[in-house]
Amino acid sequence: MEVLQASELDAAQLRAATARPRIDFASILKTVEPIIEDVRVRGDEAVREYTLKFDRASPAAVCTPIEDLPVPDLPEEVRAAFDTARANIAAFHAAQAAPDLTLETMPGVCCSRVTRPIAAVGLYVPGGTAVLPSSALMLAVPASLAGCRTIVLATPPRPDGSIAPEVLYCARAAGVTHVLAAGGAQAVAALAWGTASVPKVHKVCGPGNQYVTAAKVALAAGEAMVAIDMPAGPSEVLVVADAGADPTHVALDLLSQAEHGPDSQAVLVALPGVDVGALVAEVAAQCDRLPRAAATRAALRHSRVVCVAGRAEALDFVEAYAPEHLIINTADAGEWVPHVASAGSVFLGRWTPESVGDYASGTNHTLPTYGYARMYSGVSLDTFTRKMTVQELTRQGLDLLGPTVATMAAVEGLEAHRRAVTCRMNGE
Ligand code: NAD
Repeated sequence: MEVLQASELDAAQLRAATARPRIDFASILKTVEPIIEDVRVRGDEAVREYTLKFDRASPAAVCTPIEDLPVPDLPEEVRAAFDTARANIAAFHAAQAAPDLTLETMPGVCCSRVTRPIAAVGLYVPGGTAVLPSSALMLAVPASLAGCRTIVLATPPRPDGSIAPEVLYCARAAGVTHVLAAGGAQAVAALAWGTASVPKVHKVCGPGNQYVTAAKVALAAGEAMVAIDMPAGPSEVLVVADAGADPTHVALDLLSQAEHGPDSQAVLVALPGVDVGALVAEVAAQCDRLPRAAATRAALRHSRVVCVAGRAEALDFVEAYAPEHLIINTADAGEWVPHVASAGSVFLGRWTPESVGDYASGTNHTLPTYGYARMYSGVSLDTFTRKMTVQELTRQGLDLLGPTVATMAAVEGLEAHRRAVTCRMNGE
């Protein structure tokens, strides 16, 4: 890991210090666009072919109603862990429901805002390099709580064509209605366009690799009439540590992100008193013990340590980086939050590893990466709903507001607008 001094960075060096591994979207789009078009034209047949090509699997069916899939047999301990996680995620997301609001802006002018679920949603659960049942829970629990009627979960099948039983268990428990046994751009395209077996959805949510992200962005910008949650990419973490932070805890928190894959990134912001040399050595030592050590080491090559003079400098760097995950492992962690503006999810204190939010505390782990925490929120109940506004005027309300509207319509030269008001007011 490269070690930098925050106070010595000029503007260009700060940009470099907050840069993520570059994603070459232009070349990825060249791969993804023909797949998207092929799925639009040939539907399930194209999905089957790409699944054979990229995942070397031939599932019995491309998309299956969940009740037609086997009930997975999992060890009791694993089921209990998933059930605890699901209960916490459900509790935290159910509590996010905001009541509809009604306001009289002028006497007789009544405005309301009501919430409606998105009828059909697609949930992408990555499956290329790891099985991620936690992502199934993080997406399906809020979708189901929001009231989405059709919930299609897409995930790459295993080599024998089946869906990982852990993903299937979580999908069933969380209210998924269909399972699409496909990954990558072909899965996202099938969700966005719809095929003979895949219900067309209105929004595709969930993380994935560069092919998944590029397909989501391309489809949302095209004619498929589909929205996406956010352009989520490779995972990242920024850990702020003070001299009292346990070096092994800090090292393992950094490695928890690095082990996601070679394109992940881990950044340590070290406050005065941290023995940076010892910490970097601890990261290397802990990395050697991991089963995914090779990929983790690759991620560490573009990870870095930034030494800061104090809290203000640390917060400046956090803002410049806008991390997906922000761990504040300091004695005064609780005092930092009011000063943090841009992070996907924040983990405070000595006893809050990022892993708890990744799995089971209740918060969502589908979060904006790549600096998008400045303008996007992570997945929540709102991701699966829309807000619709409603207004009703009384005769008195129209008499009061009508002249304002008529004047503005006249300024814009929209005569029908003006007359729709005046003819009612004047009884024309
Ligand atoms: P994935 O399911 O995203 O991708 C697998 C699919 O990629 C395959 O099914 C295949 O169709 C496609 N693919 C692979 N090589 C291809 C090629 N050469 N051309 C076209 N398509 C190809 O699984 P993954 O690869 O393991 O990636 C998971 C990603 O999700 C990681 O980057 C991880 O960091 C990220 N992630 C992010 C979050 C978050 O909240 N931001 C959470 C979990 C995981």
